[in-house]
Amino acid sequence: MDYDKQLDRALAETPDVAEAGSRFDVPIPDVRVEGNRTVWENFETTYDRLARKPNHIVRYLQSELGTSAQIDDKGRARFTGDFRQERMTDAVESYTETYVFCHECESPDTRLVDRQGATVLKCDACGAISPVPEP
Ligand SMILES: [Zn+2]
Repeated sequence: MDYDKQLDRALAETPDVAEAGSRFDVPIPDVRVEGNRTVWENFETTYDRLARKPNHIVRYLQSELGTSAQIDDKGRARFTGDFRQERMTDAVESYTETYVFCHECESPDTRLVDRQGATVLKCDACGAISPVPEP
């Protein structure tokens, strides 16, 4: 296969970017209401993609949504109450803004680290360290 063909193929396989400036796609929450609970089916994909601990994300979502939640044995997050997909999408996007994107250069190549007992966001791209609130 020559270079041009490979390039064409690579371009064809690149999904369209939904929003300008969004280089990092957060998986759309696949949510399902089950009785008085909302089950986030692909939660595992989400925390994998964000490279964050599931419990950290869940703690944030609980305070953001004002409800209680738990992670079940299949890696799904289960919330008390009826939440729509848009509400979950907003919540996970705001989590990402605070705990994933570097506050200086907006790179998603970051880690949460403990620093003198407080959690900070450390950027592997530019080296910035930003304080973040406890979820
Ligand atoms: Zn940075």
